[in-house]
Amino acid sequence: MTATRVLVLNSGSSSVKYQLLDMSDGSRLAVGLVERIGEETSRLKHSPLAAGGESRETTGPIADHDAALKAVAGELSRDGLGLDSPELAAIGHRVVHGGKLFTQPTVVDDAVLAEIERLIPVAPLHNPANLTGIRTARALRPDLPQVAVFDTAFHTTMPEAAARYAIDVETADRHRVRRYGFHGTSHAYVSRETARLLGRAPEDVNVIVLHLGNGASASAVERGRCVDTSMGLTPLEGLVMGTRSGDVDPAVIFHLSRVGGMSTDEIDTLLNTKSGLVGLCGDNDMREIRRRIDEGAEAPEGSERAQDAARAQLAFDIYIHRLRKYIGAYYAVLGRVDAVVFTAGVGENAAPVREAAIAGLESLGLAVDGGLNAVRSAEPRLISPEGARVAVAVVPTDEELEIANQTYALVRNGNTSNGYTSNGNS
Ligand code: AMP
Repeated sequence: MTATRVLVLNSGSSSVKYQLLDMSDGSRLAVGLVERIGEETSRLKHSPLAAGGESRETTGPIADHDAALKAVAGELSRDGLGLDSPELAAIGHRVVHGGKLFTQPTVVDDAVLAEIERLIPVAPLHNPANLTGIRTARALRPDLPQVAVFDTAFHTTMPEAAARYAIDVETADRHRVRRYGFHGTSHAYVSRETARLLGRAPEDVNVIVLHLGNGASASAVERGRCVDTSMGLTPLEGLVMGTRSGDVDPAVIFHLSRVGGMSTDEIDTLLNTKSGLVGLCGDNDMREIRRRIDEGAEAPEGSERAQDAARAQLAFDIYIHRLRKYIGAYYAVLGRVDAVVFTAGVGENAAPVREAAIAGLESLGLAVDGGLNAVRSAEPRLISPEGARVAVAVVPTDEELEIANQTYALVRNGNTSNGYTSNGNS
């Protein structure tokens, strides 16, 4: 029997998201989520898609990732999809930070784990949880290849001119301060799917990818290779996000420290969790922001509702202003652009965001057709007018499928050597 199944694990600090895929046809056999690990009210939601069964939900204490993964394995077993199945080819793990060294998906061994651990100082929120997930899965199925798929890998092709900050080189190198970029799995998948939508090879097209979810990033992809992206050392740089500020003058931090008396941790929390859309208007969900704007249109001038709408409108305008700046910047970086593509929660669903981001850019060959933009669909689609010089597209992202594809491509021929050698230079 050929092993064609891949389990994809995305381990956060208190959660594990998972999907089991059959790579013979890319179908999903099961999806699920364990939340609030380590609390009394942990929750496991499991949907056995292949079995066509009802979703099952259990609540109760799940102490740690080990217990979480065992609970997931139990649910999969109930559907005849257990981790002990000979049909399982590998487990693919999302790993947020792979530094400079991990440019490809990599089969995990002790040296790889040590290297991911070495990167914790530049990804303190994510890499420890990712590591726990890998270690737990490895203990459960030591014989099975575990593959790390890095959020940063797609961006390792960025030239030094884009990847370096203009700060003292020696200091930067000593502390591994450079622009790594994130959401790489999504940018890779979406840029390739955009080429497919255009009926062209990825090597033939230049694409600006706008991944607009709760976290948001833009990338400039030249002939299938990333040449710039908006996130940097951490996922804080760049676009306005749900709760993150994106770009600010670094001196804002000194000012808040010296004049505002805030600690480094307080400023970190401010910029990562109390800024962006939520900091500007109290909501980080674009649906809610649009609702407030639309409802305010009918409210009497000066009323509470009108003021509330004005706050939401300002947040929307700042979000769009930053987005347009990046579209312009990446247009200049690429020189020739074949497509601008929207993806992730906001990009796939928020027609007003797409319309406002592209409005008035006809001289760049960019326009949105109102009718096409209004269509709701889960399919990749063009929203630019017919015959437009530059395509504008909506392409739903699928990071789990991309992780599964990359994992399976690595292990399908029984090749589990990772080709990795540590040179201590990540
Ligand atoms: P993601 O991180 O890709 O899951 O995106 C989550 C975000 O997508 C939410 O916080 C919302 O802001 C946004 N979103 C999801 N559905 C819609 C929708 N129908 N309209 C506008 N925004 C949406």
